[in-house]
Amino acid sequence: VAPTSAIAPILADLRLRCAAPLPVLRRVADAMASGMRAGLADDGAGELKMIPSHVYSLPTGNETGLFYALDLGGTNFRVLRVQLGGKDKRIIDTEFEQVSIPREIMHGITEDLFDFIASGLSRFVATEGDKFHLPQGRKRELGFTFSFPVNQTSIDSGILIKWTKGFAVSRTAGKDVVACLNAAMERQGLDMRVSALVNDTVGTLAGARYWDDDVMVAVILGTGTNACYIQRTEAIPKLQHLKLETGNTIINTEWGAFSDGLPLTEFDREMDDESINPGEQIFEKTISGMYLGEIVRRVLVKMAEVSDLFGHSFPKKLAEPFVLRTPHLCAMQQDTSDNLGEVESILSDVIGVSQASLLARRVTVEVSDCIIRRGGRLAGAGIVGILEKMENDSRGHIFGRRTVVAMDGGLYEKYPQYRRYMKEAVAELLGPERSNRIAIEHTKDGSGIGAALLAAANSKYA
Ligand code: ADP
Repeated sequence: VAPTSAIAPILADLRLRCAAPLPVLRRVADAMASGMRAGLADDGAGELKMIPSHVYSLPTGNETGLFYALDLGGTNFRVLRVQLGGKDKRIIDTEFEQVSIPREIMHGITEDLFDFIASGLSRFVATEGDKFHLPQGRKRELGFTFSFPVNQTSIDSGILIKWTKGFAVSRTAGKDVVACLNAAMERQGLDMRVSALVNDTVGTLAGARYWDDDVMVAVILGTGTNACYIQRTEAIPKLQHLKLETGNTIINTEWGAFSDGLPLTEFDREMDDESINPGEQIFEKTISGMYLGEIVRRVLVKMAEVSDLFGHSFPKKLAEPFVLRTPHLCAMQQDTSDNLGEVESILSDVIGVSQASLLARRVTVEVSDCIIRRGGRLAGAGIVGILEKMENDSRGHIFGRRTVVAMDGGLYEKYPQYRRYMKEAVAELLGPERSNRIAIEHTKDGSGIGAALLAAANSKYA
């Protein structure tokens, strides 16, 4: 095994490749903006799908009444009800519940999954107390957040393209998931209808905009990543055949699929090659929470192979994909002590290196910082790409006034260094004057209420 000095060139190379200096950020922001234009012109014209939400009525704050929301996107589904009181009273009351989905349902048949959801929803409706009021003669209305790929054809219909995230329900692909849910609710004797089918990013934007008219963009940085924004309807070439009235809508960029001009390393390429979706979701694999720990692990593996940084024998646990997770990187980066005691204990617990040397602890923190910094800076460049595309469409409407970017997701919320690097990149790209007008604000769990608000804004009774 070569001496520890063998790691110096690896570290130097990593620093250089992950630096994401201003010219690289600029290229990424420009590529994001042109990818957006291509995706709006034609489906499949670029990496960005630019999926129309078919939301043509955004929440205004004037909505009143009782509305429900259902969020299906992982191993749990969440149900929520909210009593809206209009401009002054806003949200009078809200209640929610979470139900976990058994494995056999996730691997079962379509009717069983939707019956399971509808019966959970039905039990929740049965607990509706007198703080909530449904006007006589009305059906309850529901906003349905469905975080799987759908071909959305209207505000209240969408065809499932394929299940992801561990769902393997047979015979749903090709069907309208709203019709599936409506049919199941009918089978359960539940008098409710779906008024809005929304992506979680779209729900986040709607939820944030309810409180603040200046919200124009929403970005989720959690396990995965996505972004959506407000778009003038007349500037969507691929929707011209719908002869839409002029106004605003929301476009779901699906920006995780972006890859143009990203500064990637051998570690990113190897992780991608071994992933379940090679060649796909490259932006997501570079900036989102699921992957940052894994990239760092791969760098450490290479260092452990060519040096004795972690001792004379290779630490076995380090060989296991995804053992090192983004929250570990975060905890290590918060360690400001001289001897990096927290780093030591994470290296010991997670990769089985007992009593790592001070050098090994420092190198681990530095590798983490390189990957986090690159991720944060590239996320910032993506946001600037969206803002610049919007500014180009409507001179002065973004940088000539206050504009809010609503942020949500565990990575953004819990990783202070990532957040700081992201904001620094936005400021570097825009310069002080323009960046001072951009407020990047955390909006917590807006997507659930957002879906209920979209049900209200698109109510059949309005
Ligand atoms: P999801 O994206 O799965 O819906 P979240 O928005 O809560 O859920 O994001 C979870 C992700 O946030 C995790 O995969 C992880 O990458 C990141 N995360 C969670 N906790 C922390 C933490 N303490 N520090 C840094 N990142 C974290």
